[in-house]
Amino acid sequence: MERLQKVLAQAGVASRRKCEQLILEGRVTVNGHVVTELGTKADPHMDRIAVDGRPIQRERHVYLLLFKPRGVVTTVSDPQGRKTVLDLIEGVKERIFPVGRLDIDTSGLLLLTNDGMLTNALLHPSRKIYKTYRAQVEGFVSDEAILKLSRGVLLEDGMTAPARVKRLKESGGQTLLEITIHEGRNRQVRRMCEAVGHPVRTLRRVKFAFLTLGHLKPGEYRHLTKEEVRKLM
Ligand code: URA
Repeated sequence: MERLQKVLAQAGVASRRKCEQLILEGRVTVNGHVVTELGTKADPHMDRIAVDGRPIQRERHVYLLLFKPRGVVTTVSDPQGRKTVLDLIEGVKERIFPVGRLDIDTSGLLLLTNDGMLTNALLHPSRKIYKTYRAQVEGFVSDEAILKLSRGVLLEDGMTAPARVKRLKESGGQTLLEITIHEGRNRQVRRMCEAVGHPVRTLRRVKFAFLTLGHLKPGEYRHLTKEEVRKLM
């Protein structure tokens, strides 16, 4: 929900100041009712908003799949002035935001959208959306450690749920693990690996639900297809 004058201005009706005037003059309706209160909130996607009886353009929903590179923060603006995931997106004028978060040092698949309802649904623990990570960890990982990771490990915020864990490669004193979890705790994969004695060197998310990075390179993104959006709902 946004302030009505902001919704109007973002839809290109007029400047914010002019839109306030339109509201005060009783020329704006929300779902058929005249609104003259400037503080009124409206939903640019759901509410029927009209000026002088003419409906405004509803904001379309945008769904992007980004290959987040390392060193970029998952936020819409950073007080420290670091590069954010939004700095990588060009030519999208809708106000999109990330679906969940990847650490600054983590790369990989990140969804961005302006669909708050879908975002909430995807992040809700009851949906149990599976996310797959490739973790390059220090040392050779024993079968016992793999078993521990997959059964659940005790972190400071409690036991982790069972995970799917595969050893993909061992070389140079490091192991490449593939870890699939449905929880989304802060720095979870890093903390899980640390808890079994194998600090993470690099971490990449390669899958979110059924979505993968495909041919994207770090920093590149694409729009989801209608079919992919439908499957996520
Ligand atoms: N787990 C982590 O440790 N970091 C991430 O960015 C995502 C999952």
